[in-house]
Amino acid sequence: MLTKQTEIELSNDQVEEIISWRRYLHQHPELSFQEYKTSAFIYETLSTFPNLEVTRPTETSVLAVLKGAYSGKTIGFRADMDALPIQEETGLPYASKNDGVMHACGHDGHTAILLGVAKALSAQKDKIHGEIRFFFQHAEEMLPGGAREMVAADVTEGVDYVFGLHLSSLTPVGQLTITPGAATSNSDMFHVTIKGKGGHSSQPENTIDPVVTSAQIITSLQTVVSRITSPKDELVVSVTTLQAGDAVNVIPEQVKIGASVRSFSQDVRKRAVEAIEQIIKGVSEANGCQYELNYTYGYDSVMNDTKATAIAVEAIRRKLGEAAYAEGEAIMGGEDFSAFSNVVPGCFVFVGACAPNNQTPAPHHHPKFLIDEAALADGANMFLAIAEDLVLE
Ligand SMILES: [Zn+2]
Ligand SMILES: [Zn+2]
Repeated sequence: MLTKQTEIELSNDQVEEIISWRRYLHQHPELSFQEYKTSAFIYETLSTFPNLEVTRPTETSVLAVLKGAYSGKTIGFRADMDALPIQEETGLPYASKNDGVMHACGHDGHTAILLGVAKALSAQKDKIHGEIRFFFQHAEEMLPGGAREMVAADVTEGVDYVFGLHLSSLTPVGQLTITPGAATSNSDMFHVTIKGKGGHSSQPENTIDPVVTSAQIITSLQTVVSRITSPKDELVVSVTTLQAGDAVNVIPEQVKIGASVRSFSQDVRKRAVEAIEQIIKGVSEANGCQYELNYTYGYDSVMNDTKATAIAVEAIRRKLGEAAYAEGEAIMGGEDFSAFSNVVPGCFVFVGACAPNNQTPAPHHHPKFLIDEAALADGANMFLAIAEDLVLE
């Protein structure tokens, strides 16, 4: 049996410090790509820890590198730091001071956890075999996402494994979950303009009607899921916006359609895109309409690597107890941790953050979103346990 020579126990003071960082960040939220004060706070805080090389890979991201005394594996931990355009309604004493901006997804907690982990590990340089990189990522909430910018800045060069976490307001505190394989979805969307020829509603023969054409397109798009992909494939195509004319006696010139497309595998995603364009093209042409399609590829699905998942599961069980781990289900939501895990074997862990007495927890991105701060120690302990297993002697 493997015994850990170095077990890092977070002191009460260290946990309190993580909570205080989280509260500071919660009070000072910033929107995606505008995390100037947040990243300055992270940079300055990291600069007070020993043995770290702290740099700025992009304008608002921060990288800290901890090189151990001995050679070994290189592992990375990632936290995102951005907030959302939401007016906070939690009534917390440390609620947002920035009007209309709120940490309503828990990224304040992710950042505070990783600062705590960086502080705890930076004191262990002499026992580290390998290297630990701390990725403080900007702009998770807005396409094209900060993760791909950090990866483009080569922060993952030479990294063997990468780990990330997300607090979950709907999961009981003390429960950590991992979904083997696909954990989040490919989160795409498209906008299409169907162009006809407008005219008087009483003289349809002199027009090309984009409304009827659009109705056919929307109906036909239902076959992308029901006929074109297998029942075993996981795919959602939802037409969600529709803008046509303004007057009942006018056949409009054009109609705008918007839709959301979610899938897990890259193969299903590719086939869906092809089918969508074929339907729009075919139906438009059959009706004499033109079309302009803008397909936006969102974040790739997070694919948890088998080995990295086994490492994280083992670390959670060892450090937090057998009952702390449960297998999770894939969610049809996007997460740009995939930019890291596409290039390095990775694992993304959900950390329960719902207080035991909270019967009606608010979901993420809600003005009343809350986390139980006890989850912060769980997240930090999980990362520390992974470091103990992989690079600490
Ligand atoms: Zn979010
Ligand atoms: Zn989030």
